[in-house]
Amino acid sequence: MYRYIFGPVLSSRLGRSLGVDLLVERICSYDCLYCESGPTLLKTLTRSEYADPEIVLEELEIWIGRHPEYELDHITLGGEGEPCLNSGLGRIITGIKDIVPQTPVAVLTNSSLLTSTQVRTELMNADVVLPSMDTLITEEFIRLNRPLPGIDIQEIAKGLALFCREFCGRVFLEILLVRGINDSIENLEKTAEFLNQIKYDRLDITCMSRPGAHIQPAIPRDQTLNRWKKALKKDLSPDKSAQCRELPVEKVDKQAILASVQRRPQTLEQLCLALGLDREEAAAALNILKQERLIRVIRDREQNFYTSKGS
Ligand code: SF4
Repeated sequence: MYRYIFGPVLSSRLGRSLGVDLLVERICSYDCLYCESGPTLLKTLTRSEYADPEIVLEELEIWIGRHPEYELDHITLGGEGEPCLNSGLGRIITGIKDIVPQTPVAVLTNSSLLTSTQVRTELMNADVVLPSMDTLITEEFIRLNRPLPGIDIQEIAKGLALFCREFCGRVFLEILLVRGINDSIENLEKTAEFLNQIKYDRLDITCMSRPGAHIQPAIPRDQTLNRWKKALKKDLSPDKSAQCRELPVEKVDKQAILASVQRRPQTLEQLCLALGLDREEAAAALNILKQERLIRVIRDREQNFYTSKGS
């Protein structure tokens, strides 16, 4: 059983990606309505060694040694909260690069700590950084991302712009649109103006694809989405997970399934593809986990998503 390593998961932006959770608990500076990991338990901007870097790296080394069959596209720092809150972030990135120099390191972030010179410096050794910024309108930011009081979205935008200027790796930006909250014309205009001034490699305009912590998916109308895509001159980027190679069939490991659905709700098909599992065996393992009340099913848009949250 790994505490910090989970997956691999299939990511539309990063392909087959092994997750490294730098928080393990729900610790974040935001408590987004749409969060896939459930409600935030500790809302903070204080950095701390929420996960010991040496133990994280030791786990990774063991996982890599045991799973030579996986061809990973990325190792991704993320998990149950905001990874930049871990004060060992810089050490963990350099440590991963020592263990698996051939695999790019990606970091997911909500951008809130990019105002810190220290955090921006620690991120310089990553290969890909995926900052999100859903809105530049303060009222929308408070309603959607529910930040720690005092966090100023305009300051975050300045930190993000600075980071994009300094960083030599690739920046994949993400804007998640929720109908009636941040899909406004005012946000679109401010976002377009902001994006015109910064350098980035990819922009994903996304919508909720899984049940969120506080709301079910509220997808903007097609007309609204098209307006955003046109104004920001981006098509929705191709789904990289579709290009993932099939894996040799793995022995079903209930703990691996549990660790994976703890971080994000997934369907049976998504789990099989990401972990290389036989469908019938995986379905049987999910049933046992359900009977043991370790996971539950959320029905959304005619699909069953498995999650450990609320079990
Ligand atoms: S979606 Fe990301 S930023 Fe928002 S609460 Fe969840 S972990 Fe934090």
